[in-house]
Amino acid sequence: MRLRFAPSPTGALHIGSVRTTIYNYLFARQRDGALILRIEDTDQDRLVAGAIDSIYDGLHWLGITWNEGPQEGGPHAPYVQSERLPLYQRHAQELIDKGAAYYCFCSKERLAALRAEQEARHELTRYDRHCRNIPPDEAAERAKTEPHVIRLKVPDEGTLAIEDLVHGHIEWQASTIEDQVILKSDGFPTYHLAVVIDDHEMGITHIMRGEEWMASVPKHLLIYRAFGWDVPPMAHVPSVLGPDGKKLSKRHGSTAVSQFRDDGYLPEALINYLALIGWSPGTEDEIFSMDDLIRVWKIEQVQSAGGKWDKDRLDYFNGVWIRKLSVDELVRRLEPFVPAEWDREVLRKIAPHIQERMKTLKDAQDQIRFLFTDDIGYDRSALIPKKSNAMTTTEALARARAVLSPLEPFIATVIEPPLVSLAAELNWSKKDLAGTIRMAITGRQVGPPLYQSLEVLGKEKSLRRIEAAQDMLAGVRA
Ligand code: GLU
Repeated sequence: MRLRFAPSPTGALHIGSVRTTIYNYLFARQRDGALILRIEDTDQDRLVAGAIDSIYDGLHWLGITWNEGPQEGGPHAPYVQSERLPLYQRHAQELIDKGAAYYCFCSKERLAALRAEQEARHELTRYDRHCRNIPPDEAAERAKTEPHVIRLKVPDEGTLAIEDLVHGHIEWQASTIEDQVILKSDGFPTYHLAVVIDDHEMGITHIMRGEEWMASVPKHLLIYRAFGWDVPPMAHVPSVLGPDGKKLSKRHGSTAVSQFRDDGYLPEALINYLALIGWSPGTEDEIFSMDDLIRVWKIEQVQSAGGKWDKDRLDYFNGVWIRKLSVDELVRRLEPFVPAEWDREVLRKIAPHIQERMKTLKDAQDQIRFLFTDDIGYDRSALIPKKSNAMTTTEALARARAVLSPLEPFIATVIEPPLVSLAAELNWSKKDLAGTIRMAITGRQVGPPLYQSLEVLGKEKSLRRIEAAQDMLAGVRA
């Protein structure tokens, strides 16, 4: 069994393309098949520098591996279409020799005028087969000097059909298909010719790709037929849609895998969530690692309708996967998201306490900054609970300091009881007292649990910050 994924290097690696890649990966790994990465760069106008690196980076980060590809090599190298031009040219010539394709010399201007006329008459715009009947010898002679393309001779009638593994039986009438260009004037093949030749030459046994390519299938079937090749089974998997039901694009927010990595998403979460867009296990289960997916995913359960991208749901999965990490692993994953000079021992101590509340790895930095810098600037009014005033808050802070200073060891379980009693004595809610102390020591309203925050910050610093808050309220250091 041999599967392939065939991205075009036209931009950063897109999460929709990754979802299709994941399905190919699962299908291949379930059956001990080979997975092939092929770069489809025949549309030279759309190439984007760095796109191949972005494909490699993104897939490596996700942990997707493959067997043959541009950097890996393999029996069908090269795996970049622009490096395979002679192969396509030879095959196009073969179709000419067989009478299944022909040279077309029509100028861009003629084609544009033709199109305009057809549009004015509200007709289907398509090539009018102007060059189809030039005698082959004459055409071959002209092709030596005149610019030309090669077009497929599409039959006037007949039905083309596939049994799609996702969509079932689908058919098209040959009469609706124009004499498509298979080789362009610059000697490059079109996508249609290149994809059919490569899938055949590379021994691809199952073609799985996004459903946006479904409309191209009848054109491919005609090329298979012209060569007399077998058509491998095909599966067209549903698109990843934006919330508005249109194909997910930059208009809907970021779509580049690298952006999700930089925003602090775990590869496990992205894989888990993406796998569920367009596939359902038929149970309530929703948390799947890649290994789980290899076990349970089935092509039969891939849905034919597109699945909607939902960022909140991705956040949910990210939280789940963050909580599954061991503390050591969490610290390792946080590494790129916190400044190099932050003490790793302290980071390790606080990590378990933020793990419960984190949505992304990026969230951590703001929540724990107070442990690594004394510069926690805040507005002094933020210290005062709604029902209180500066004077009583100053007193509360003074009492808190008095209660905290003798505590030994200075750990959460020892810190909590006296602060709870103090709140009662002051006639404050626990929440108000915690909020005031939290603001004093962290400069923020939300963060890791208070008692643990005090513990990790340490007694000396905690007391100093509470005192500073007191002074601020008293106007001394305002
Ligand atoms: N090159 C196409 C893409 O960029 C893939 C087409 C295919 O898989 O046949 O998505």
